[in-house]
Amino acid sequence: MKIGIIGTGYVGLPTGVGFAELGNEVVCVDKIKEKIDMLKRGELTLYEDGLAEMFDKNIKEGRLTFTTSMRKAVEDADLVIIAVGTPPHPVTHEADMKYIHAAATELASYLTGYTVIATKSTVPVGTGDDIEQLITSKNPTARFDVISLPEFLREGFAIHDFFNPDRIVVGTNSEKAANLIKELYAPFADKTNMLFIKRQSAETVKYASNAFLAIKIHYINEMADFCEKTGAEIAEVAKGMGLDSRIGPKFLNPGPGYGGSCFPKDTMAMAYMARQNNVDMTLVKAAIDGNVARKKKMAERIINSVQYIKNPKIAVLGLAFKNGTDDCRQSPAMDIVQNLLEMNPEIDIVAFDPKAMGNACQILGDKIQYADNMYAALKDADVLAILTEWSEFKNLDLAVAAELMRGKKIIDCRNMIDKNKAENAGFSYQGIGK
Ligand code: NAD
Repeated sequence: MKIGIIGTGYVGLPTGVGFAELGNEVVCVDKIKEKIDMLKRGELTLYEDGLAEMFDKNIKEGRLTFTTSMRKAVEDADLVIIAVGTPPHPVTHEADMKYIHAAATELASYLTGYTVIATKSTVPVGTGDDIEQLITSKNPTARFDVISLPEFLREGFAIHDFFNPDRIVVGTNSEKAANLIKELYAPFADKTNMLFIKRQSAETVKYASNAFLAIKIHYINEMADFCEKTGAEIAEVAKGMGLDSRIGPKFLNPGPGYGGSCFPKDTMAMAYMARQNNVDMTLVKAAIDGNVARKKKMAERIINSVQYIKNPKIAVLGLAFKNGTDDCRQSPAMDIVQNLLEMNPEIDIVAFDPKAMGNACQILGDKIQYADNMYAALKDADVLAILTEWSEFKNLDLAVAAELMRGKKIIDCRNMIDKNKAENAGFSYQGIGK
């Protein structure tokens, strides 16, 4: 099958590589020339576990190419996948559709033969209708179906999730389009659920899922606060809850709040759509407000631990919004660092992240310092704040850390370090929900 992918970001690139690996001929287009130049040179533009090998292999074998020409990606394609960004509108916080609309308008002229246009971007309900109208008005004779194909991959696990999807949701009432998608996903037919539903329902599934997960995280964070006041242990409470099959064990890890390019924007977009339709989504609103407060609370916790120190130095481990990715968009760690700098402009922050230093530096610039490794970040620090759950932080040698640090305090917002071991090494330790 010939597939054109519009947008080579965190969704488009792993998706393109994955479909090429399945034997399809994939052409990825992006409007950012620098990105395409890098990809053409065989250099990856983002970090994802397992992506590099498959990327190299499929370029070498000629199934994966990159271009800035929409024509090359769309002409003769059986399937065109739209994977451009839908960021929050700066004022209303609804999903900003300018990239989707531009992509649909641009691709319309190059359609040849029957083409399925699948929207993988997370888009408000009704977007499929808008895309259909945009294409028809630009190219009235084009033969195409617009379907919703929401993406559920988790950043950091994008390749794993591509090859092991827990469900494939397809929104269409066209039998022809449905058959093409069945053929595309035939290699996974035995191991996943394929759900063919109305386009509007498929568009809604993605928002409904992300809002639900955000609420689940907000809930366990509030429960962690409760444990801190009562002597209960959140890990034990979460385990007890998770054994109930109606609840399940996942997404019951408390932390510094949810982040990333999806949950914050998708909850805000969901709340906006609810308001537009006069539906009062109190839980979604509570999760949004609670999550903002959560990151501030974590920053206060860190700042309070150094309140009597003049020009305190804070070591930060972790800047990415979660482990396994270099993505810092809406990262709780980044927001906490910004909060810290606002609360006390005199503080000195030295940070380390195994993968996200480049992206973090683009956002924070020289407001903080960057260390080459986790031990370098600790030197002379008054407190260590762990903000992202990279597994290597679990193996921090506490004796070495105690030697390097000026203060003996750990604020562990990801519960990575064993409390007893930290205390035995001479630290005062504060985790979450303990
Ligand atoms: P991204 O910002 O990383 O990538 C989007 C890419 O699209 C950019 O490289 C941009 O240059 C390109 N682009 C924009 N307009 C274009 C055009 N007209 N022609 C060609 N290229 C164009 O975004 P992302 O994280 O990959 O997310 C894409 C969509 O997928 C969003 O709607 C997001 O909500 C959704 N989504 C993301 C994830 C995730 O984990 N990141 C998961 C599921 C769904």
